[in-house]
Amino acid sequence: MGAYLSVPTWWQRLDSRYRLVLGRCTECGAHTFPADGPCVECAAVDAFEEVEPEGTGEIVAHTVIENGAPPEFAGLLDAEGAIGAVLVELDEGARVPAMLTDCDPHEHGRGDRVEAVVRRIYEGEGVVRYGAKFRPL
Ligand SMILES: [Zn+2]
Repeated sequence: MGAYLSVPTWWQRLDSRYRLVLGRCTECGAHTFPADGPCVECAAVDAFEEVEPEGTGEIVAHTVIENGAPPEFAGLLDAEGAIGAVLVELDEGARVPAMLTDCDPHEHGRGDRVEAVVRRIYEGEGVVRYGAKFRPL
């Protein structure tokens, strides 16, 4: 088992992120996602500069959602059959919740290398939302 992946928390955090932006601590150089709150390494507060990561990393937690998704994701589930919900540890060190794409989510999991790509996340209230998903390398 990897880190425990709480699906409700994962959804909640995913929903608030459009771009993949990390906070780099100006005190110690560590990367944190999302870029708010204290630094994960040295606990410095409000000491982040925003940086875009390379987008490559490794899956550290993984689950497959086949039903029970929030309503705005129902169409996505219908279209894709299943959603790979992952926590990716980027090469910069920050951990990011995201969806898998361009693969069968049952066939990929912890330890696999992935890269970020921008994909449609879902459509709600007439707005198509895009965000970073990860595909296997
Ligand atoms: Zn720090």
